[in-house]
Amino acid sequence: MTVRQQQLAELIAEQPAMADMVALYQDIVKAQGRYSVAQPVRPPTAAAIQSQIDSGRPVATLCSECFDWPAMAALAGDICEITTRHYPEMETDLQSLRTWLSEEGPEALSACLFGNAFPLLDLEDSSLIIFVLNHASYPWLHAVAQTLGPLPTYEHWERGDCPLCGGSPDLSYLQSQTGQRHLICSRCDTDWGFRRLGCPFCGTTTEGQRYFVDDNTGHRLYRCDSCGRYLKTIDRRMFWKEYTPMVERLRTLDLDVLAQQMARGVGNDSGMVNDVGGGQ
Ligand SMILES: [Zn+2]
Ligand SMILES: [Zn+2]
Repeated sequence: MTVRQQQLAELIAEQPAMADMVALYQDIVKAQGRYSVAQPVRPPTAAAIQSQIDSGRPVATLCSECFDWPAMAALAGDICEITTRHYPEMETDLQSLRTWLSEEGPEALSACLFGNAFPLLDLEDSSLIIFVLNHASYPWLHAVAQTLGPLPTYEHWERGDCPLCGGSPDLSYLQSQTGQRHLICSRCDTDWGFRRLGCPFCGTTTEGQRYFVDDNTGHRLYRCDSCGRYLKTIDRRMFWKEYTPMVERLRTLDLDVLAQQMARGVGNDSGMVNDVGGGQ
């Protein structure tokens, strides 16, 4: 059993109300495990990685031979099928995604992953494209991340997107000793240091950052007034057990609900404080 599988089982034992949702992720992890992923035969040199980082380009593009696009497309199809089984009400959207995959072919995935060329599909829930793509690309991106080890991002990567794959962060944590903020990539789980003040999505640094703090869990929700996006944050100075990012995402689902309520203007300011001067 992998660490992710073990932590998902523990989550169900702790929070039985989440069992149906977690079961979807258990099936996705199983499906990912059925694909064998090659490690890079000739990993890029340290100099090539450094040059990529210095020029602000994601490092995984140096390892293009590792990405088996047809296998990734097959896994994306599996994930559509698994998700339909768990949430039949999403069948129409997921069928549109599968049709797009079969019509465009595996190359379309490379355009999404490294060219940010996402399909313009008329879906009821457009976040499904990212959901399927993230889980389908994870085995290959994770293998590249494991092979390359920590990237030389310190003081060299000021960007809000992932230095390994170019994906967006969907989680962050404040380091237990220093309180430094680290962002975690929604696709490949790579983490990298990022300034405390400011939005990683639109880059605004001056104002409009507010956050909600749950003192019991150390969970925070940052919401940017400029672009409307939000970031879930775990304050590891308060309390933390190290969960894998997939499990941490599920354990903080209440923050997604809160963010969606705020976006709709429900309970807009309850518990929110202005983050002036970088927060505590
Ligand atoms: Zn990434
Ligand atoms: Zn923003």
